[in-house]
This record gives sequence, structure tokens and C-alpha cells, in this order.
Amino acid sequence: ISFMIEPIQRLTHMSTQFQEGITGFQRFMEIMNLKPAIENKPNAITLPEVHGEIEFKQVSFRYEDHLDNVLVNLSLRIQPGEYVALVGPSGAGKTTLCSLIPRFYDVTDGEVLLDRINVRDIDLQSLRNNIGIVQQDVYLFAGTVMENIRYGNPAASDEEIIAAAKHANAHDFIMSLPNGYHSEIGQRGVKLSGGQKQRLSIARVFLKNPPVLILDEATSALDNESESIVKKSLESLAKGRTTLVIAHRLSTIRNAQRIIVLTEDGIVEQGTHDALLARDGVYAHLYSKQFELQV
Ligand code: ADP
Ligand code: MG
Repeated sequence: ISFMIEPIQRLTHMSTQFQEGITGFQRFMEIMNLKPAIENKPNAITLPEVHGEIEFKQVSFRYEDHLDNVLVNLSLRIQPGEYVALVGPSGAGKTTLCSLIPRFYDVTDGEVLLDRINVRDIDLQSLRNNIGIVQQDVYLFAGTVMENIRYGNPAASDEEIIAAAKHANAHDFIMSLPNGYHSEIGQRGVKLSGGQKQRLSIARVFLKNPPVLILDEATSALDNESESIVKKSLESLAKGRTTLVIAHRLSTIRNAQRIIVLTEDGIVEQGTHDALLARDGVYAHLYSKQFELQV
């Protein structure tokens, strides 16, 4: 599923604040003022080079106007460059947990730290410049392929955009479009497949080159063929970055350095795929259920 959001293009010209390159629905919601503003503290910190250590310290979170906590007293530390998979039943709070890192929401209790600095103390633009997000829904705007990739880093040159597209395995299909990088996408432009759109969103993140990466069910809407090429692009994107991947299909997270199992009771298990299977607990159960579905 993807949406063409035309107003977003006009709105992005209103203020450079909106050009920091966060893609997706959260940005759309912020622009449309549909949720309370997350604001910069006075004297917020602009980050120097980020290593990508992420820590959740006794985090509780509840959505405004909701009674129940989605997350309760959750603690988790992720090392710089670590590749961590987050699995668990739908509604367990995986997306919510990830959305606390770029401060799409602020914690109700506890702290989220990036390189040991509370994210609330970090300048929002500086924080979000260091985080790349690829999710199931891809948000493209009416404009050329090049403009859509440049959204990842408005200062990028054409050459840098082409390099990013190559890394994302998008260059070849882009070159096969009638006007290559200058092809218009949108209602009056070329139609792209789900996998092609996803590769454009991955090219954006390559261009942005953030040390922290969140992949939220990025391939779950794709058919098998486009899934495998998008998966390859994502694997190369994740190299050298702290990566938090949420996946439905357990095959995509099997190679994670660490798998975290999140249920409504919080983090109930963590470890490698083999260790968790040997434990014969929640993960092993999820895995066998998944396996049945795929047969
Ligand atoms: P997961 O990604 O593990 O499927 P989510 O983080 O999306 O879980 O959701 C966790 C819980 O929070 C669910 O009960 C969901 O309905 C609720 N929730 C998610 N987003 C919102 C929101 N914007 N407002 C209120 N409740 C929400
Ligand atoms: Mg989710």
C-alpha cells in the first residue's frame, strides 16, 4: 500500500524545519497538526558523530487519552552497529517502541537514550537526521523519481542520488522508465510496483546515511519476487548501522544477532534464533506457527 500525498510537497516549502528527511505517516501527521507537537527543549543538543547506542530505561508508554499502557517498565540496550530483531504478536507494541527513538511520541515514564543522551535533550532535527526508517507504507509525492529520492537529503547532488539508487537496487528499473530519473511519478506519471516504491524509499535512506536504522515490516506487503530483491537492498542498507528490524516473517530475522520477543507482558525472551528455539518458549511457538502457515 502506498499513498500519493500531494499537499505534502507544497507544505515542505513552507519551512526548512519540514525538510529534515523523515518520511512517512508521522511526518504527515505532524504537518497536518493531528497530534500534540513534540518540541525542542531550549538549548537542545546538536549531536556530534553518532555511534548508535540505543537504550530504553524503564520505559512506560501510554497513548494520550488511552487508559492502558502499551509499554510497562521496559528496559533494553542495543549496542552500536548491532542488528536486533523485534518479534511478537500484532498489537504488542513493536511499532510504538520504535517510534519513541525519533520522538514521534515522548515516553510517559522512563528514558530513551541515544549514545547515552536522553532523546528529549537532543535537537529534534539533529536526532531525526541520525535515524532512517523504512516501513511497509511508502510515501511518495508527485514529482520526479530524482526529487523523491532527494527527499532523503535535500542537499544531495544528482551523482549522490544515482549512487544511492544503485545501492538500493533501484538504478536499473529507474533507467528503464521513459524519462529515467526525470520520470514523473504520481497520478499523471509512471506507475511503480510495490517493490519499486520500496526500493525508492530505501534509496532515500542510503542518501541520508544515518547510523541508526528502523525497518518496520518493510517487506510485508510485497510478493515473493519483489520481497527477495528488497530484502537484499535492506541487508546492504543495514551494514554498519544499528538496526532494529520488525518482521512478520521469521525467515527475515533468523540471522539477527539478537531477537527480542515482545508480548503484552513486555520483553519475555531474548537471544539468538537457535538459543530461543532450544528454549522452546514463546519464540519457538511463534516460529512453528509461522512454519505451518508457510507450508
Ligand atoms: P505492533 O507494532 O506490535 O503490532 P503497535 O505498537 O502498533 O503494535 O500497537 C500497540 C498498541 O497500541 C495496540 O493496542 C494499538 O492498538 C495501540 N496503538 C497503536 N498506535 C496507536 C495510536 N496512534 N493511538 C492509540 N493507540 C495506538
Ligand atoms: Mg507494528
